[in-house]
Amino acid sequence: MAVLYSSTRGGEKGVTASQAILKGLACDGGLFVPSEIPTIENLKDWKELDYKQLAYEVMKLYLTDFTEEELKNCIEHAYDQKFDTEVIAPMTEADGVFYLELFHGATIAFKDMALSILPHLMTTSAKKNKIENEIVILTATSGDTGKAALAGFADVEGTRIIVFYPKNGVSPVQERQMVTQKGDNTYVVGIHGNFDDAQSGVKKIFNDKELAEYMNSKGYQFSSANSINIGRLVPQIVYYVFAYLTLLREERVAEGEQINVVVPTGNFGNILAAYYAKNMGVPIDKLICASNDNKVLYDFFETGCYDKNREFVLTSSPSMDILISSNLERLIYRICGDNPVMNKDFMESLQNTGVYHITKEMKDKLESYSGGYASEAETAAKIKDLYEKTGYVIDTHTAVAASVYDKYVKATGDVTKTVIASTASPFKFGRSVLNAIDSKYDALSDFEQIDELAKVANVAIPNAIDEIRNAPVLHDHICEKDAMVDEVKKFLGI
Ligand SMILES: *Cc1c(COP(=O)(O)O)cnc(C)c1O
Repeated sequence: MAVLYSSTRGGEKGVTASQAILKGLACDGGLFVPSEIPTIENLKDWKELDYKQLAYEVMKLYLTDFTEEELKNCIEHAYDQKFDTEVIAPMTEADGVFYLELFHGATIAFKDMALSILPHLMTTSAKKNKIENEIVILTATSGDTGKAALAGFADVEGTRIIVFYPKNGVSPVQERQMVTQKGDNTYVVGIHGNFDDAQSGVKKIFNDKELAEYMNSKGYQFSSANSINIGRLVPQIVYYVFAYLTLLREERVAEGEQINVVVPTGNFGNILAAYYAKNMGVPIDKLICASNDNKVLYDFFETGCYDKNREFVLTSSPSMDILISSNLERLIYRICGDNPVMNKDFMESLQNTGVYHITKEMKDKLESYSGGYASEAETAAKIKDLYEKTGYVIDTHTAVAASVYDKYVKATGDVTKTVIASTASPFKFGRSVLNAIDSKYDALSDFEQIDELAKVANVAIPNAIDEIRNAPVLHDHICEKDAMVDEVKKFLGI
């Protein structure tokens, strides 16, 4: 059965998967959603599949206009030696919970799970739709997306990629990873502003019809590698199915036994994938949405009111420093009964006033969600506590989730087996992680800390870190937040 995509704001309908991937964002500013969430017929039949085989089974339910050969080809090119383990998404048990490690790809954050396949989905989509323009990927990043997208698209023929990041809003390792990126088709710009400024700027460029026409006349068209692209959401569903099957295979859960999932959340893409997996039939009970001090989502789940009018806080989990959680729109659309008119009203209200209130009926449909947040002190304490108890070292984002989970268990007494999405390697946020364990490390330089962390955690330094130690800086562009479009034109020479 063909799955077609429509905009959450009603402006587009009947779009194929490949067209939706190419477009990124719908013309009306909405997000593409599948006409129906497909269901899994017999989950346990997939128990013995490896990651790539499972990826094919899950993704083909959504990307129905891809041939078997096309999709398998994309998967083969994505989940290969770029990952440091053949398992791709291994699970580690520590202190009674399962950490689903999503950071074994090229840039050691979970963004690799989707961004290692997106360029292949996109170039395949371009071929299928006989696109001759060069595709210009425009990305706003809070740190991890940028590098993962750069790594994915570097030197991919027929594409260019431009990444905007908040100049003072990413970790030193994150920044270094980006500004040392090789590939003639890559361009990295720091903006004077925060992530929301970068994201709003990118959205504005996408919605500029005049610019799109001008680009087209020069042989270019924009697309998005941000988590609003359905080509990122779909690959992310795979690892939740995989996690459940791993637990089943290892007899840690019985057939049909429910699990809870905790996700450190920013733009709501990762947890939305878990929600889709649940709706497909994976036995997931609670979806626990973990925030840091930017707890706009926690407040939303508590009150039904989304209010971005608040102070933006820089935390040690920068990839979650977000006040406008783009993918939430897909959930809003769903809980208002797939009603684009209603959803559009909410999004306009968000745009105009920074606030919207969902109805009581909609809030009732959020029953499976539980929101929580962890302060900086709680996050650091969790890293230290888990390390001292088990020797396992987690990064700051994962620690936000783990801390929120502890509070959830305390409040509810829920003992359901639980998977925590572990979204980054501790090496990516080495300074914060080591400081949490012991403040004596603070005096060390960034790279000395990396060496120390390897000893403390008793794991090898990932390639992604080794690589940037001595790499030359190739990008040093800085711009004001309202001058992003000029940077785009400059890079394309138009
Ligand atoms: C992007 C990111 C998140 C947030 O994921 P969303 O899909 O945006 O909610 C959490 N942790 C890390 C390490 C990330 O890179």
